[in-house]
Amino acid sequence: MGKISQKEIEEYLGFKGEDFDFLVETAGKVRDKEVGNKVYLRGIVEITNKCIKNCYYCGIRKGNIGISRYFLEEKDAIDCVRFAVSQNLTSIVLQGGELKDKDFVFYVEKLVKRIKEINPSIAITLSFGEQDFETYKRWYDAGAERYLLRIETSDKKLYEKWHPESHSFEQRMKCLEMIKKVGYQTGTGVLIGAPMQTISHLASDIVFFKEFDIDMLGMGPYVIHPQTPFGKIYGDWFEKNRKNIFDLAIKMIAAARIVLKDVNIASTTALDSLNPEGRVYGLKAGANVIMPDITPMAYKRNYLLYKDKAGLYSSSAESLFSVLEIVKKSGLVASLGEVGTSPHFLKKRKNRF
Ligand code: SAH
Ligand code: SF4
Repeated sequence: MGKISQKEIEEYLGFKGEDFDFLVETAGKVRDKEVGNKVYLRGIVEITNKCIKNCYYCGIRKGNIGISRYFLEEKDAIDCVRFAVSQNLTSIVLQGGELKDKDFVFYVEKLVKRIKEINPSIAITLSFGEQDFETYKRWYDAGAERYLLRIETSDKKLYEKWHPESHSFEQRMKCLEMIKKVGYQTGTGVLIGAPMQTISHLASDIVFFKEFDIDMLGMGPYVIHPQTPFGKIYGDWFEKNRKNIFDLAIKMIAAARIVLKDVNIASTTALDSLNPEGRVYGLKAGANVIMPDITPMAYKRNYLLYKDKAGLYSSSAESLFSVLEIVKKSGLVASLGEVGTSPHFLKKRKNRF
């Protein structure tokens, strides 16, 4: 398949019935050919639900005063990593709300170093939002090799409808560029099916991923959270559109696989909020990464970006088990003990030297 146009992607995203099934099947074949039939696991540790931002859609936004805030002590975070290592889970994602104070920057730097001391071959992905160049560099030098910053939407006008004025689309874009420049494997993604978003926006997002030359993709459906500005306005709309939003998320994964070919693509947890087999479908539609939540149970129930999050009452061992079941159901092979570097990133590196 040659260069695919925006128009063709829009067509994919409008597919229904047999065309939809064909799109998913094709994407699965592209995945098998380009990156194989292995699914890489990333144990995700949700370090904190404290956040200085106020994204209109997110349940842990600063303005939500109805939740109790937590911050994992280094010792607790390290226990999560030890659990992961004991299960041969050698790829870790550290995620949290956006904090930028000196103590936080230092905490993450120290934590990354400690993890590398425990086992230098653990691959660390960070996802702590927008930071300055120096911070990204410090965390990279400490040993983190991947960073995930969703652009949320590549359309500036839409971004501005989803965020208060103090949040800047240009700054988010600059951050993504910094992440790439520092040398991280660069991951991004968008919300799918969120209010005011059209198929044309989503097709442009895939073109953006291609042009930006990203290495990893983590995108999922928009899921409502009642204690947010969007939750208060879009409740009925969301319930009426659940199925459409889910289908759109699956089509986005499939279209992204067909266009981007050899990047790592996650079958994200939010898919399970809209369909009990959500992540199985995500894998069938071309994803090759899945992220068991290994945050301690006492904390994970406060990390609610959206409602009906899967696995809230599961222990880390149960989360891992259910992810392995999902992979089995999808007919693919779970890969433990491998860090699963983005094949796209590896190829770029090879071509450079
Ligand atoms: N604070 C960091 C990382 C944590 S938020 C950041 O924003 O980059 C991780 C992701 O959760 C966000 O990028 C956003 O796309 C997603 N998210 C937030 N609210 C959501 C919702 N209601 N439904 C689905 N995904 C949501
Ligand atoms: Fe904070 Fe990220 Fe949620 Fe925005 S999406 S409010 S930055 S945690």
